[in-house]
Amino acid sequence: MQNEILGIDIGGTGTKGAIIDMMTGKLLTERLKFATPSPATPEAVAETVQKLVEGLNYKGKLIGCGFPAIVVDGVAKSAANIDKSWIGVNIEKLLAKKTGCKVKAVNDADAAGMAEVSFGKAKGRMGTVILITIGTGLGSAMFTDGHLVRNSELGHFHLKGQETVAEKFASNSVRKAEDLDWKTWAKRFNQYIARVERMFAPSLIILGGGTSKRFNLYKEFLKSEAKIVPAQFKNEAGVIGAAMYAAKY
Ligand code: BGC
Repeated sequence: MQNEILGIDIGGTGTKGAIIDMMTGKLLTERLKFATPSPATPEAVAETVQKLVEGLNYKGKLIGCGFPAIVVDGVAKSAANIDKSWIGVNIEKLLAKKTGCKVKAVNDADAAGMAEVSFGKAKGRMGTVILITIGTGLGSAMFTDGHLVRNSELGHFHLKGQETVAEKFASNSVRKAEDLDWKTWAKRFNQYIARVERMFAPSLIILGGGTSKRFNLYKEFLKSEAKIVPAQFKNEAGVIGAAMYAAKY
């Protein structure tokens, strides 16, 4: 196994990268971040990824890349928070052509989950563990006995009858756009968690994404059957897990 792998996390707002030590999951470089271009077309995003490779002076041959959509066999199958022209694009081939490295692509929340299962709060944990990333959208990673069930996409089921897609109700971008205080937002998020628990009865729920850094501001308002904890790697989980994914798969 390569000891150092570049992990990249393409998000709706920012595109981040760091070189990761595969033995410890630690960042060997700063976490370099560029704004995700707008429109976030395949060519524009590939340019940004290339800027990360150059900016971090990465000389390795393998890149792991978290991508904010359904990813099947390296191909983007949805585009809720990224330009629609991504649908059908082979992310791995496009980025490999641009960077000259082998690229393994995975859903961004699944990547964050990989970090927590490998080195963080879900390490060695049996049963069902669900990680929810709270950011531009709501992303999810589901593990059963430590195995990833890919592309669970729990931000996209409907709440409140059939009216509202979950991530249009309880994501961080909605909190900001509607100027909700933490208590009001948490009430919404609790409705969301109740549905997730009803469907999968996880024994542990991990919160990731940028909002996990501010867990202290809303933890007193959260209600759930399962224990809820912030991701150990906060918003570094995406880059760490992308590298872990590339090493494993
Ligand atoms: C996408 C998911 C992604 C999540 C977080 C959702 O809109 O459908 O694939 O994991 O946003 O970026």
